[in-house]
Amino acid sequence: MADLARLEHVSRRYTMGGNEVLALRDVSFKLSEGEMTAVIGASGSGKSTLLNVLGTLDRPTSGRYALAGTWVHELDEPALARIRNERIGFVFQAFNLLPSYSALENVELPMVYGGLRASERRSRARDALCRVGLEDRMDHRPTELSGGQQQRVAIARALVNRPRLLLADEPTGALDSANSEQVLGLFSRLHEEGTTLLLVTHDPKVAKHADRVVTFSDGRIVSDTAEVTHAA
Ligand code: ADP
Ligand code: MG
Repeated sequence: MADLARLEHVSRRYTMGGNEVLALRDVSFKLSEGEMTAVIGASGSGKSTLLNVLGTLDRPTSGRYALAGTWVHELDEPALARIRNERIGFVFQAFNLLPSYSALENVELPMVYGGLRASERRSRARDALCRVGLEDRMDHRPTELSGGQQQRVAIARALVNRPRLLLADEPTGALDSANSEQVLGLFSRLHEEGTTLLLVTHDPKVAKHADRVVTFSDGRIVSDTAEVTHAA
């Protein structure tokens, strides 16, 4: 399958209070179209940094990154913002929904910059909420929804611009086990429908749903079920 994302010798160094942290150390990694990958590893091992680099929210200090054939590490911020909005969907542990907006309005938000008519935005948001099984909760505000339902709204919001890549950072971290199962079942279904997914987690139950598991330790990939070596 075609490479959707390709990192070549990527490092990310943070400097804080005179101390240097190498959050990613010479990471080479490819993500194929249609894959569902889990990234696991201890807290502080670099998982979120990887996700942020893949999502163009953060830049490598050194190394190269190509997304869908474009070298994105050399683009300026407006170009990155466009790519992020059009090609990448994000799901975070904390849902990040706007509290005074309905589920439907939250899901419409990413389309505000896309030049779509209001009626088209509304109809796409409805479709996305149906896809995540919330057709009967569209007019509810986040406080009127369970944690699992709120995360499904966030997933609908991430899907509404039809991204090539869906990135999720500890998506079940704030959920009880019943709600976690629901959200994981939804990710599996999206995967079966062809979505390329990368989930960062420290929960082995999440990793079981993936067809590839990449393990991080101290900023490096220490195992990858898809590859014998990690040379780019
Ligand atoms: P994980 O998601 O696996 O818990 P992170 O990618 O968040 O790990 O962090 C990896 C390392 O980089 C940690 O040592 C963390 O403290 C450090 N780090 C992450 N983000 C920053 C930042 N913005 N500034 C300074 N250090 C950071
Ligand atoms: Mg993290």
